[in-house]
Amino acid sequence: MLLFTPGPTPVPESVRLAMATPTLHHRTPEFEAIFKETRELLFKLFATDEVIMLASTGTGAMEAAVTNLCHDTLLSVNSGKFGERFGKIALAHGLKNVEIKHEWDTPATVEEVVEAVKANPSIDAIAIQISESAGGLRHPVEEIAQAVKAINSEIMIIADGITAIGVERIKVENIDCVLAGSQKALMLPPGLALLGLSNAAIEKIGEGKGYYLNLASEIKKQKQNTTAYTAATTLIIGLRAILQEIEANGGIGKLYCDTARRAKATRFALEALGLHSYPQTPARSMTTIDDENAKEIRDLLKTEFGVNVAGGQDHLKGKIFRINHMGLIEPYEMVAVVNAVELALAKLGRRDFDGTASRVFHEEYFKSVLKKEEK
Ligand SMILES: *Cc1c(COP(=O)(O)O)cnc(C)c1O
Repeated sequence: MLLFTPGPTPVPESVRLAMATPTLHHRTPEFEAIFKETRELLFKLFATDEVIMLASTGTGAMEAAVTNLCHDTLLSVNSGKFGERFGKIALAHGLKNVEIKHEWDTPATVEEVVEAVKANPSIDAIAIQISESAGGLRHPVEEIAQAVKAINSEIMIIADGITAIGVERIKVENIDCVLAGSQKALMLPPGLALLGLSNAAIEKIGEGKGYYLNLASEIKKQKQNTTAYTAATTLIIGLRAILQEIEANGGIGKLYCDTARRAKATRFALEALGLHSYPQTPARSMTTIDDENAKEIRDLLKTEFGVNVAGGQDHLKGKIFRINHMGLIEPYEMVAVVNAVELALAKLGRRDFDGTASRVFHEEYFKSVLKKEEK
């Protein structure tokens, strides 16, 4: 069975093997050396002033970011389940919340965020997904961050990059906190969350808020290559292994480039079958298709063709399916997926099978190769 859900993503063999080594005690020079090496690799990936590893899922990092960086009013963008979660976290902690809400295919605009910031002077932090996984859309986070900082540089920009870090290069100049999670683009089992922080964020965190998710305690310890509480040793060993594996596969730049090609070629292939891409601004992390037969297609992919893709949640349940692009994925695996979708459509009597999906995928993915051969 091919696992093509946008999280969890398949864990490469080298990483599984690295995590099979005997457990280390976390307060030892041996583990601290691994922690240090992992931290250095993370600084390269995040390009932020500080990086923190937390033993939690991605939502723990979302909560830590909101409670430590918002002291009054959070402006959150809700174009899906994960954006909605930021608002719920703020309210759960007695913070005020201003929400910009859209249908799940619609990204936020710079103008509406600027308007909200100007209308609500108590807003001291903004939380937004870079890639909103609920509908597979990309928000213009870098542009929003730049515009907000131009109005008030003290407003903290929290960017949920859980399906964006490791997918594409994020310009972090105007972002104060960017989040990642182990089971998405980092190809690890769930349970580890990461935060990249700006110096301005560290200043605002000060003594920190809360107890377990107090970022001040973690910053202090992690600068010394240890953690405030027991480190997620096995997952951190896995994280070092996957970051090394990415390096060994041509580096992060190549991964970004391959992911972009894969996402575009997949979307073109499926559109060539007459399918419709759901989000107005598709993220590179996944291809999301809305279709009246979404449930049937997804079921056939799994039962007949050995491909596991994700469905939709809430009001999009049974209305969309989502195909993952995150991680080290070979083009031939991706071809198997688009081909399976074409087979499913044939089985449903929607169109005759003629190999269109595979052809279009190859033509787009290997465009540069084909061009060279023409000369
Ligand atoms: C998966 C995901 C999360 C976090 O979910 P957890 O289940 O807590 O790991 C947050 N934001 C986005 C965009 C996600 O895709």
